[in-house]
Amino acid sequence: MFLYSTNNPALRVTFKDAVFQGLPPDNGLFMPLEIPQLPAGFMEALPGLSFQEIAFVVSQKLLHAAIPDADLQTIIENSVTFPAPVVSLDEQTFILELFHGPSLAFKDFGARFMAQTMSCFNRDESRELVILVATSGDTGGAVAAGFLHTPGIKVVILYPSGKVSPLQEKQLTTLGANITALEVAGTFDDCQALVKRAFLDSDLRQAIRMSSANSINIARLIPQMFYYFESWKQLPKADYPTVFTVPSGNFGNLTAGLMAMQMGLPVHRFIAATNANDVVPKYLESGEYTPRSSVPTLSNAMDVGAPSNFARMLDLYGSTWNTLRSCVSGYAFSDEQTREAMREVDTNYGYIMDPHGAVGYLAFRKFQSEEPDARSVIFETAHPAKFLEEVEAILGHTIEVPERLAVLRKKEKQSVSMPADFRVFKEWLVAHY
Ligand SMILES: *Cc1c(COP(=O)(O)O)cnc(C)c1O
Repeated sequence: MFLYSTNNPALRVTFKDAVFQGLPPDNGLFMPLEIPQLPAGFMEALPGLSFQEIAFVVSQKLLHAAIPDADLQTIIENSVTFPAPVVSLDEQTFILELFHGPSLAFKDFGARFMAQTMSCFNRDESRELVILVATSGDTGGAVAAGFLHTPGIKVVILYPSGKVSPLQEKQLTTLGANITALEVAGTFDDCQALVKRAFLDSDLRQAIRMSSANSINIARLIPQMFYYFESWKQLPKADYPTVFTVPSGNFGNLTAGLMAMQMGLPVHRFIAATNANDVVPKYLESGEYTPRSSVPTLSNAMDVGAPSNFARMLDLYGSTWNTLRSCVSGYAFSDEQTREAMREVDTNYGYIMDPHGAVGYLAFRKFQSEEPDARSVIFETAHPAKFLEEVEAILGHTIEVPERLAVLRKKEKQSVSMPADFRVFKEWLVAHY
């Protein structure tokens, strides 16, 4: 498998290099040179395959020998470790629960697969690999859990002191083992600046093997294709045109869906659902792409004003508005509509959605008013208990908290205090790795 850059179609990089580099030097995004077709009969055979078997066939086909089969098998056994069940609200409305992993959000799939892939490629190296990650909250938890106990890899997470939610902080600071949390006296931008400088520092580069776990790493995108097929397998046989509704921020999930479609997923359409950060729905409507600063909303993991995967979406469709529009519809909703939808789903179906999933629910209902025959898989990207206080206030009653979250609340925080000062950070790294 070779990859090119969305800014340079002539570039050729191996999968291993793309995984460790994260981003091409020209600031584009890595894309697979070839998106192959799945084996004939794969869709018909789906009901007989386990989630891990599906993941193996899809990734083996796409990676095309970049990872030996036996290693790929191990990567999948260690990363696809929790289910993605489909729950039916009615005959045409299905919820795909992507929150059964350790950090209670779909990002666990990408983070675990990336961690296992890096560990596999790192096996023959004598020096350990140190992953540096700056986080504003959410991604750090998935990355930390994804790399926990991964052989040959240590993780250093930098987060801004006092600027992440108490629950997010627990997710970063209670794992121990190969994960260390640095509590930085500064902002998220300070954390990011420290990490950037570390990668540019020649002393550090000599002393330590370092890499990043960027959210746009191609190794995070690939496993996000798996659950499109896994959910298809669980749908009842029926003649409705099937659409996938994806609550979106950086559009990684939706991009993975477009790739799954190119490999052979027989999907009728994708629905991009956003909150007030609506640059992609606006683009689909007008043909004009106007990235801007994000505005804060209730579904805050989707507060993105310049979606990083937009370049990949365009690239997949030959950079033309019309072809992208023929596969993707977009809708945006306010916080008030989101709250209303959460109450509606709770009352009508006895199902509790988190604010992100509720934006998806609204988008599908809107689409259904235009195409009443369609049925949809709606991605539920996070567990509602992740946003406990807000969800309980909106619904007016308490909700169940999963055991793995309840346990976390009782655990002791362990972090290293760090000033936003590169010299101190550098000394600390050299002393510890
Ligand atoms: C990250 C995130 C999203 C947005 O996903 P993208 O792939 O960036 O579009 C949606 N919901 C939740 C809960 C998230 O954590």
